[in-house]
Amino acid sequence: MSELLIARIDAILPQTQCTQCGYPDCRGYAEALAAGSADIDQCPPGGEAGLAELAALLGRPLKPLNPQHGEHKPRVLAWIDEANCIGCTLCIQACPVDAIIGASKQMHTVIAAECTGCELCIPACPVDCIELLPAVEPALTAERQALAGLWRKRHAYRLFRLGREKRERSERLAAKALAKKAEAQFAAPEVQASLDAALQRHQARLAGEPVPPPAPLADAKAARIAEMMARAKRLREGG
Ligand code: SF4
Ligand code: SF4
Ligand code: SF4
Repeated sequence: MSELLIARIDAILPQTQCTQCGYPDCRGYAEALAAGSADIDQCPPGGEAGLAELAALLGRPLKPLNPQHGEHKPRVLAWIDEANCIGCTLCIQACPVDAIIGASKQMHTVIAAECTGCELCIPACPVDCIELLPAVEPALTAERQALAGLWRKRHAYRLFRLGREKRERSERLAAKALAKKAEAQFAAPEVQASLDAALQRHQARLAGEPVPPPAPLADAKAARIAEMMARAKRLREGG
């Protein structure tokens, strides 16, 4: 697959990262188009203009948008009704460009300049406190391309961040597992020694030989056992 062709297709796509094309992001759709496994009519945010550019680039016949992927709509921006936000963070997890800021149990806000209007945060919100507001459509191609460039960069950074967090999580788990293993290895000789001693005493008893005394207990433990034995003796003697 030609990297150059993928980049040229990706440059046409609006970078809304909405997944309506059936791919996880615009880059995924660009790869599928370059590989010939997707049709050019699957990107509603790109509209008829985007479709025509794809047809020209790929030398495919022009056709209307496939309604199964949705319809081209005017650009929107997400807005959070902060008074009703419960701070569940689910919208942050759904946003493909990290355009929502907030923390657990805190109110959340959309950074309007970075919102692509993908609408992915809408079904994620359990209290329906996100609304879509009309947004100004960039008038010039250069403005549109600049916006798409920003969204592409922010989506790429999000993927990088998620990858780094996944790596760090698995490194933490691996370190924890290693520490546990080391702990177990550390404890094993003591456990083994005590098992060996118990076995020796048992064999001596069976052979009628003098039974070696058990290893001395730690002071605190020995004192506690002595106290319990004395108490049991007193109870036995009715004291
Ligand atoms: S804008 Fe949405 S539908 Fe269009 S390519 Fe990107 S993810 Fe797919
Ligand atoms: S805030 Fe909502 S609509 Fe805007 S980019 Fe993020 S998920 Fe999409
Ligand atoms: S999903 Fe809704 S309730 Fe949860 S943090 Fe986002 S806006 Fe707030």
